[in-house]
Amino acid sequence: MNDANDNSIIIIGAGFAGLSAGIYGRMNGYKTRIFEMHDKPGGLCTSWKRKGYTVDCCIHWLVGSSQESRMHDMYDEVGLIKDTQIINMDEYMHFESPDGRILTFYTDINRLEKHLLEFSPGDREPILEFINGIKMCLPFDQPSKHAPFPKRLVKQARLLTGFIKNGNKMQKWMKVTCEEFANRFKDPMLRKAFNEIWFPEFSMMFMLFTFAYLHNKNAGYPVGGSMPMSESLEERYKSLGGTISYNSRVEKIITENGKAVGIRLSDGKEHFCSRVISAADGYTTIFKMLEGKYADEKIKSNYEKWPLFPSLIFVGIGVNRTFNEIPLSVSGFSYELKEPVMIGETERDRLWVHLYNHDPSMAPSGKTVLTIMLATDYDYWKKLAEDKTAYNQKKEEIADKIIELLEQRFPRFSSQVEMRDVSTPMTFERYTGNWKGSFEGWLITPDNAHVLMKPLSQKLPGLSNFYMCGQWVEPGGGLPTGVMSGRRLIKSICREDRRKFKTDPGKI
Ligand SMILES: Cc1cc2nc3c(=O)[nH]c(=O)nc-3n(C[C@H](O)[C@H](O)[C@H](O)COP(=O)(O)OP(=O)(O)OC[C@H]3O[C@@H](n4cnc5c(N)ncnc54)[C@H](O)[C@@H]3O)c2cc1C
Repeated sequence: MNDANDNSIIIIGAGFAGLSAGIYGRMNGYKTRIFEMHDKPGGLCTSWKRKGYTVDCCIHWLVGSSQESRMHDMYDEVGLIKDTQIINMDEYMHFESPDGRILTFYTDINRLEKHLLEFSPGDREPILEFINGIKMCLPFDQPSKHAPFPKRLVKQARLLTGFIKNGNKMQKWMKVTCEEFANRFKDPMLRKAFNEIWFPEFSMMFMLFTFAYLHNKNAGYPVGGSMPMSESLEERYKSLGGTISYNSRVEKIITENGKAVGIRLSDGKEHFCSRVISAADGYTTIFKMLEGKYADEKIKSNYEKWPLFPSLIFVGIGVNRTFNEIPLSVSGFSYELKEPVMIGETERDRLWVHLYNHDPSMAPSGKTVLTIMLATDYDYWKKLAEDKTAYNQKKEEIADKIIELLEQRFPRFSSQVEMRDVSTPMTFERYTGNWKGSFEGWLITPDNAHVLMKPLSQKLPGLSNFYMCGQWVEPGGGLPTGVMSGRRLIKSICREDRRKFKTDPGKI
């Protein structure tokens, strides 16, 4: 039976957002129980072991990794990256061309500016615009509350004046896509790189902010990768007395008279509570668990129109060699193939490789893991998966093809391969439930960039005691957003209950 006053909250999903909502919920005296369909915490922030290698499927950079940043305070609260070594790399990534030219996206913007101008003097105008755009975003990094008062004051004043001075410019950048900006360059490599570095329809604003965080050394790589981060959130949550039920898929959110009162699992068991939070996939939550009954026109239109981070063919390869000659980088490097090839449903002329030569914990000594992320069409894989044999064959074919293509770049590569692992949109869907296998929810595009200023509602119209958090209510997604989203939600629930929001456990 439902007892509306018992302070109990059911949370669907143990990804970053669900775990964070659980942690802040416990800190504020709520009785929380997370139901997670998988047998592990973390959702998309995950990795898996194969033949002694770790295939990491998430973290490249963690915004908020610097102890000087306000976001880091939040990580302290939830127990993230407490004793983790953080590496700030000199390179974001580099692009190689067959004629030996190398275009490097350095994380230090002064070095980046110098290099880009040397690389293509004829593109001075868009290069300087890009660099100035990054400079504009540099102050938008809230200082840690632990910073000495004068330093905090200066930083906050800079943030405020930056906002007042650059508000209009930011609006303009939000409306420019990467593709539109890329087309401003005369040099074909720069054009290609600006299109490839993120996604063509992505708002340039996102790229500017990322480079600003990288320059500020506030978007480092946590050694050990994704899974230890998810496990540390789980540990924090459990240490606060929170409970998690794994292998528990929620099928339905039970409502009574416009009020969420509980959930039903796929095994038919029902659980009741005062409030329900879904930190799971947005589409499944709204249109399946709630049967579309609480979606107004605006919500429906978002799900119809806003483009998603695509789904991926995600290939992990373990090789018995090192790559000391390749500089450490946040996102790897991209090289041109001898000739275009079909991989999955798409013809590709370059291969983008992420080398884990910066994280020795990912492979046995003297060996390395490489990952390759290829955007792909969900429907193509959905159809293919109807025939299990054809689907498995395609995965093998792709692994063979990638190894052959890597041999173009690294002679004798294929003889050094010890592990190969291919995931598809079906894998992403099966393990995380994300709509169309998307790897980060909604893209920030000119159509929805306003949410950077005014976040989406965490409630649905006409349904009380129900809330959402995570990447489907925070376009742009990402791990910091997951934590912030869980925090924002519990804070607003505390406000509803006229409780003072607490970020340390105190007496529960
Ligand atoms: C390849 C890749 C690279 C990335 N790189 C970065 C990066 O460098 N930096 C960064 O910040 N972010 C990165 N991200 C994005 C980041 O991982 C996600 O945005 C973030 O993890 C989303 O967290 P979430 O909690 O909102 O959602 P999810 O992680 O999707 O969590 C949702 C949880 O709900 C569970 N669930 C779903 N349906 C049900 C159900 N019916 N019943 C019970 N449980 C259910 C799922 O199993 C999952 O555990 C990357 C992601 C990928 C895949």
